[in-house]
Amino acid sequence: MFYPHASPEFGEWVKSLPGKRVAVIGHARPDGDCIGSQVALARVLRQAGAEAHCVNQDGVPRRLEFVARDERFLEPGEWMNDGWTAVSVDCSDADRPGETVKAVVSGYEANIDHHISNTHFARRNFVEVSSAATAEVLGGFFFDNGYPIDPVTAQGLYVGIATDTGQFRFPATSRRVFQICGRLLELGADPAVASSHLYEQESMGKMKLLQVYLASLRMVCDRRACIGVLPRDVFETTGASFEDTEGLVDYARSIHGVDVGAIIEDRGNEVKGSLRAKEGRFRVNDLAARFGGGGHVCAAGFTVQMTMETFYPRFLEELREHFRAVEVEN
Ligand code: 5GP
Ligand code: MN
Repeated sequence: MFYPHASPEFGEWVKSLPGKRVAVIGHARPDGDCIGSQVALARVLRQAGAEAHCVNQDGVPRRLEFVARDERFLEPGEWMNDGWTAVSVDCSDADRPGETVKAVVSGYEANIDHHISNTHFARRNFVEVSSAATAEVLGGFFFDNGYPIDPVTAQGLYVGIATDTGQFRFPATSRRVFQICGRLLELGADPAVASSHLYEQESMGKMKLLQVYLASLRMVCDRRACIGVLPRDVFETTGASFEDTEGLVDYARSIHGVDVGAIIEDRGNEVKGSLRAKEGRFRVNDLAARFGGGGHVCAAGFTVQMTMETFYPRFLEELREHFRAVEVEN
């Protein structure tokens, strides 16, 4: 078994669902792990006799439409919470699904996730922090319980794992990751089709966005951190969409000698930050927590209600302080 301590409880929970209406809820601005996990769980729960629907505040990004296929994603306003069972995937806390979901969901029956910062906000919490992706956790649960996995489900799980491991490069990429992916391939997951959709269909807008980001890179903290900034009007000037920011921060981290890379998005009266570390000991989730965010030791993020002018110097200060703190510990 992949998750002997948790799969039986997951199986028990699924047994309680037939005939129920289940909302499979993901986080705002969904990524590959979120969409892949939502689609896969909804399909498996329907097989098990539940009426399952995917619910997301934001739509499915264009490059992930091949994962969603004919799965209709409901907007929170389209459904009522009364009589529905809510389950979250890939959400570290009850705020991650976004304001519009929060407005209609009063409580979560289950929470399936892999973030170290997960707050265990549901009645049943399936939180596997040693896993690279929520899709890995779900794949393990499905195999352990012997559920049938069709090719669409297999591809969804594969995409979730491939994207959250940075294409099988990040430290959480374990033997279990490859074992689960191997079995998903047997069941119809197709890595070549997935990477063609994910990485070979870029828009010119995204390339312009990349130019803006690369031109803004600045080395700080004795060249151990590299920060790039996206100005307020960048989506209008480049023609890029919000989902095109994904992956940009990896360029900052990839530089020789850099331990932590950052992308800071100026959104007018708020700032969104994404942090990436080369090694877990830099615990960027703790740095993100200094601004009310969270995530994993190597990948974390936050959104703060501040202007860029107030935020930037404060961020540099916290970054210096954070390096000092991890230095003392390691
Ligand atoms: P990203 O930087 O790609 O937005 O997110 C990286 C990781 O940090 C993801 O796993 C995501 O769940 C987490 N993360 C991003 N933003 C937030 C946030 O505002 N709050 C929390 N708790 N986690 C976040
Ligand atoms: Mn994830």
